[in-house]
Amino acid sequence: MKAKIAVLAGDGVGREIVPEAVKVLRAVGERCGHHFEFTNGDIGGQAIDKVGVPLPQDTLTLSKQSDAVLLGAVGGPKWEGLEYSLRPERALLGIREALGLYANLRPAKLYPNLTDASTLKKEVVEGIDILVVRELTGGIYFGRPKGIEKLPNGSERGVNTEVYTTEEIRRIAMVAFDAARKRRKKLTSVDKANVLESSELWRRVVVDVHKDYPDVSLSHMYVDNAAMQLVRNPRQFDVMLCNNMFGDILSDEAAMLTGSIGMLPSASLGAQVGLFEPIHGSAPDIAGKNIANPIATIASAAMMLSYAFKLEKEAELIEQAIVKALDLGYRTKDIQSPGTRVVGTTEMGDVIMRSLG
Ligand code: NAD
Repeated sequence: MKAKIAVLAGDGVGREIVPEAVKVLRAVGERCGHHFEFTNGDIGGQAIDKVGVPLPQDTLTLSKQSDAVLLGAVGGPKWEGLEYSLRPERALLGIREALGLYANLRPAKLYPNLTDASTLKKEVVEGIDILVVRELTGGIYFGRPKGIEKLPNGSERGVNTEVYTTEEIRRIAMVAFDAARKRRKKLTSVDKANVLESSELWRRVVVDVHKDYPDVSLSHMYVDNAAMQLVRNPRQFDVMLCNNMFGDILSDEAAMLTGSIGMLPSASLGAQVGLFEPIHGSAPDIAGKNIANPIATIASAAMMLSYAFKLEKEAELIEQAIVKALDLGYRTKDIQSPGTRVVGTTEMGDVIMRSLG
């Protein structure tokens, strides 16, 4: 197949880890007879330095005309003093909105050999492989009315509104059911239907969508219980479907079960172009030193192959190469442990590329 990929490396370690993912994608393309065409675009602080805005129109046009977007990270101390609307991080909200990315997929998978990286006991986290599907453009972060108002007695009142329509719930539920179908076919829908009407509707719509996915088993869990079960017995979960706020919180909790931010990829999907990026930021404290872990970004490239291009075999090839590199004892500094061999960002990219089989 032929595919156009927009490459937005951004700032800090983004500029080091993204080239490693591109390197691996190129190698997979050559091996499997696909032609991936990569075009670089500006985003974040480096776009501000170049053209004065964090998300130039050219970048948006490039992204919309591509089949998928590979993003590194944005931000850094250099731009922290800027007015809020001009900050590098605004580019993230802007590109999500422009591409209509309503679904955020975050796997939390503990690779064999890395069980020591988790703060939880080995027997609790060993073998976890969870996918959190978070609704990204609705719910309490966007609902109206919102704001802080002055009351006649001089005090103030802060308001946010949790709101979901049938259509918003239906489309994110379909993403979660589709994802479950590619995995262990088990979906847990997280809500607070015992107290929230928006959750009552959420549950009703999810049950209705389930009729089209009889091969996937569905269960419902209140969010407070889900938070507890994630640390008590995380292996019970396959795919977790969450609204925007519950997903925001639970995806961070699930991610941290694996112990290492440099290992975790993500995918944001909408009606058309999907965006694939590591969950971490630009890590200014380690940028420019060739020590950042490129695995989160390389795993994001694997998600791109699976979710954007339906190239499951090729995605699996990358996943297996990551496992092999770790099995061979290679580690970047953030995941090192006694007896392992510490390598830099580019070396880790090379080892994974050579491990493609
Ligand atoms: P961060 O994720 O950049 O870093 C947190 C910690 O994790 C740091 O100690 C860092 O060294 C480490 N880390 C992150 N990625 C790593 C990797 N690949 N390998 C090894 N270690 C890694 O979060 P932060 O320090 O809070 O934010 C730094 C900047 O990034 C800020 O400007 C913030 O706004 C921005 N940010 C951007 C995104 C994004 O682009 N999606 C996300 C979060 C934060």
